[in-house]
Amino acid sequence: MVKGTNSQQALAREASCSCQKRQPVPSTVQDEGDNGGGEVVARRSGTLFELDLLNCPVCCHALTVPIFQCDNGHIACSSCCNKLGNKCPNYNCKWLSFPIGNYRCRIMERVVEAVIVPSPNAKHGCTDKGEEEEEEGENGDVDGDVVIWEAQSGMLFDLHLLDCPVCSNALTSPIFQCDNGHIACSSCCTELRYKCHSCIFPIGNYPCRIMEKVVQAIFVPCPNLKHGCTERFSYGKDLIHEKKCVFAMCYCPQPNCNYRGVCNDLYIHYNANHLNKKISNQFVCDRSTVTWMKISDKILVFQESADGHGPLVAVQCFKEPEGLYVTVNCIAPSAPGVGEFSYDLSYSTPMSGDQHTMTFKSPEMKRIQKVSFQTPEKDFMLVPYYFQDKRVSLKMNICIHRLKKDERGISIR
Ligand SMILES: [Zn+2]
Ligand SMILES: [Zn+2]
Ligand SMILES: [Zn+2]
Ligand SMILES: [Zn+2]
Ligand SMILES: [Zn+2]
Ligand SMILES: [Zn+2]
Repeated sequence: MVKGTNSQQALAREASCSCQKRQPVPSTVQDEGDNGGGEVVARRSGTLFELDLLNCPVCCHALTVPIFQCDNGHIACSSCCNKLGNKCPNYNCKWLSFPIGNYRCRIMERVVEAVIVPSPNAKHGCTDKGEEEEEEGENGDVDGDVVIWEAQSGMLFDLHLLDCPVCSNALTSPIFQCDNGHIACSSCCTELRYKCHSCIFPIGNYPCRIMEKVVQAIFVPCPNLKHGCTERFSYGKDLIHEKKCVFAMCYCPQPNCNYRGVCNDLYIHYNANHLNKKISNQFVCDRSTVTWMKISDKILVFQESADGHGPLVAVQCFKEPEGLYVTVNCIAPSAPGVGEFSYDLSYSTPMSGDQHTMTFKSPEMKRIQKVSFQTPEKDFMLVPYYFQDKRVSLKMNICIHRLKKDERGISIR
């Protein structure tokens, strides 16, 4: 990196136009509590417990714009850069005389401005200073309205700051920055051939360590918080959980019904509103059931007969050029212990005498949150047309088993 020699001037320029902003809690935050029809969190926000990350690591004062970074990714406030004669004070940089004060860490400037802390400077000041320590006051009291804050934490409402500006995926270490302070994730740096996406500078050599720490330190609730999931993850990890969350939304399989809810609520809803208890649309595990499925109906839903809230199983058929595709899916999230079944499906030709039977055994029933009418690419039984003898209904035998797992969590039949 070619460094300019007029860093002092640059520093003075930056400092003169910077405004000291660590925003106190704005009034909009109070609305979060009771907006949105009684939901606890109207907007998803992250919680930062390590408020030290918002302090200049040199002087321990709250960081304000401008923030500078050295080529090794250490940061400092502008007055520290000045005092240090623009030499990074970090042990590893000292001997190499790495300068600090030329290159802004713009993403951190945005984070510092976006994180809302309960009081402007009391709680995250350097502990050495010892002043401003209050015994109470962990819950911010702003203009008489109490905002419930987690002890010693800040809130970040603009979670997009934690996404790579190129690919929009959640940032994970390593994170890089160019001399102009633009950042990118490591796979984008490779894809962009180490050329910054928004300027001409190279990117991929200089880490943005402070953002790596911030991303790990920001905790977000599960997206299904409003449905009852209380789990919390460091930013980006929540997406992995979301797919396996037991509180993930499931959609009613009944045509023209718009109900959606947590799976157990859906099962109760289906039982109360749609289950035709006269026709045997219920199944008992390990018991073979004869089903007549009208091909034109395209879907047949079974419910496990268990106190009105057993899991739902959707049998679907798709008319394709080679024959009928038959699928069996459980309507459930992919969470451990929910709707874990295997099944045997068999179809016999309608002709008497020379009866042929085909069987499809699946070691694990697929779990879906919503029924789809798109032709499946796999996990279906193909019934050729010559097997159907022009009948309008499919007569099948289905036997559903509850999956049992051994102590290592591996399925056993
Ligand atoms: Zn400082
Ligand atoms: Zn350094
Ligand atoms: Zn990226
Ligand atoms: Zn750039
Ligand atoms: Zn969850
Ligand atoms: Zn419904």
